Amino acid sequence: MLIRRLPDDLVNRIAAGEVVERPASVVKELVENAIDAGAMRIGIVTAKGGKTLIRITDDGSGMAEADLSLSVERHATSKLPDGQLEDIRSLGFRGEALASIGAVSDLSIRSRPQNQDAGLEIVLARGKLGDPHPVAMNKGTVVEVANLFAAVPARLKFLKSDRAETGAITEIVKRLAMANPEIHFRLEGADRKTTNWTAQTAEHAQLGRLTQIMGADFAGNSTPVALSRHGVVVQGLVGLPTFTRANSLSQFYFVNGRSVRDKVLIGAVRAAFSDFIFRDRFPVVCLFISVEPTDVDVNVHPAKSEVRFRDAGGVRSAVLRAVKEALDEAGFRASSHIGDATLAAFSGEPSPQSPSNPSHSQPTSASWSGQASSSHVPNNPTLTGLNEPSARYDPGPSEVENNNFPLGSARAQLFENYIVAQSEDSLILIDQHAAHERLVYEKFKAEQVAGNIASQAQLIPVVVELPEDDCDRLEAAAPMLEKLGLYLERFGDRAITVRETPAVLGQPDVILLVNDLADGLAEWDNIEVLTKRMEAIIGRMACHGSVRSGRLLRVDEMNALLRQMEATPHSGQCIHGRPTYVELKLADIERLFGRS
Ligand code: ADP
Ligand code: MG
Repeated sequence: MLIRRLPDDLVNRIAAGEVVERPASVVKELVENAIDAGAMRIGIVTAKGGKTLIRITDDGSGMAEADLSLSVERHATSKLPDGQLEDIRSLGFRGEALASIGAVSDLSIRSRPQNQDAGLEIVLARGKLGDPHPVAMNKGTVVEVANLFAAVPARLKFLKSDRAETGAITEIVKRLAMANPEIHFRLEGADRKTTNWTAQTAEHAQLGRLTQIMGADFAGNSTPVALSRHGVVVQGLVGLPTFTRANSLSQFYFVNGRSVRDKVLIGAVRAAFSDFIFRDRFPVVCLFISVEPTDVDVNVHPAKSEVRFRDAGGVRSAVLRAVKEALDEAGFRASSHIGDATLAAFSGEPSPQSPSNPSHSQPTSASWSGQASSSHVPNNPTLTGLNEPSARYDPGPSEVENNNFPLGSARAQLFENYIVAQSEDSLILIDQHAAHERLVYEKFKAEQVAGNIASQAQLIPVVVELPEDDCDRLEAAAPMLEKLGLYLERFGDRAITVRETPAVLGQPDVILLVNDLADGLAEWDNIEVLTKRMEAIIGRMACHGSVRSGRLLRVDEMNALLRQMEATPHSGQCIHGRPTYVELKLADIERLFGRS
């Protein structure tokens, strides 16, 4: 046996494999150091996706001569003064980033402490440390990393294209900037457009920074989260359920200021949204969670992007609750971008391949305007009679008052499903079926939670014929369905009789209802999970208790629906996450007609 201690530079290169995976991880470590040093301005310059150059400039504390040489030694850190690994309040603590980076690149560090007249520079070229020498510079620190992995061809081979690495760096800096709104970040280089995220002032700092990074669209279509519970503080912004994405790339989680990927947090948010969006859509989320440093272990992985909570259950329930409350608060709001999309559709942007009417590609918006200007109005028979005043709808006095309601007062019903309403400054189109479905669902759920679901007997039990295995599943689920007010019994091999239905559903089409439930049961198959699927079952049933599209409504019925929507949480989306209404501002309508 021949065991020997590895030389330091080899140890550093091995460690570098864990800490510095790619240019973006170098940027992360260096910017974290700048943040830990109390910087207010941090500049990041990259070239070729960080492969040839990464330069981080900060105006933080700087390092005195002795510290400067120590900083590049492995396991040398100023951040664990009492050796308390359980109580970490800085982003760094492992004391290995600079040593690791220096082992696989040409590293230069220039630093000038706040109380010094000049700076000092040290150079670590592929692990070899030179002597410090004076340089002229501003207060703070400049770390330059050149030729990353040039001496580690194996690692170099695994790097992605310059563009991909540039993008990865942007993502990392974005997260660091989100968590530190009071710091000015500037990201630039030959490989990118310059981004400047100016410092945000204390009061609305977070909102301001998230608006800078995520765009005003997100800020306008999200709702604030703020909750503190058993030592867990949750805050940030979550997007409205109608403002979703097809993947989870727009979900950002931070724990004590550190960007993390964490199953507990992701799961809690998914659960909070489960009522409102389809499984294949993802809410946009920026959540900042703070816990006592002693309640979370950040030393799980060298890259420090994972954490372990001491009380994962407590964190989960705090996040779940915080997000649910925020969504409750948002009430019936649907996202404004739907209005924008509607507007775009109205304004007749010529769409390159209109899927609706392929054979009739002609009347584009251009030909429309052409017709309008050249047509001879007096000869057009369909336009006669419009001058007569009788066609005007005259709202009663009570309806004029209704203009103060957010969803306005109903004026008409179109295509037997869309209610047209007018509020003080907008036109609102409501999908009556989708809206009513949400109302029934919320009422049903409230009754279920309160444990007083009323049921209503059928005059004659309805017999529903179904395949045998569907009957088996319905029969097995019967005790649970009874708790929801649906009483059914097996009737021979291939039929079920229904005696009572939940009162909240009104007069549902029982055959359709039972068939739909049978489909659901087949999908969820196992009875044990059924109790957990209560909400899904209620959702299925709610659909059958809703006014169908196709039913004519009187004006007072329509107004009653609008008032109920305003009073019902989450009524901006139907239970499948589609919007229940869209709103067009009067100003937008005027824009459509070129009036403003
Ligand atoms: P860690 O951040 O885990 O302590 P690093 O290797 O990243 O380990 O840095 C080592 C030490 O160098 C830090 O503890 C800190 O004292 C010092 N240091 C690094 N970067 C800076 C900087 N930008 N400004 C001031 N001090 C710094
Ligand atoms: Mg560090």
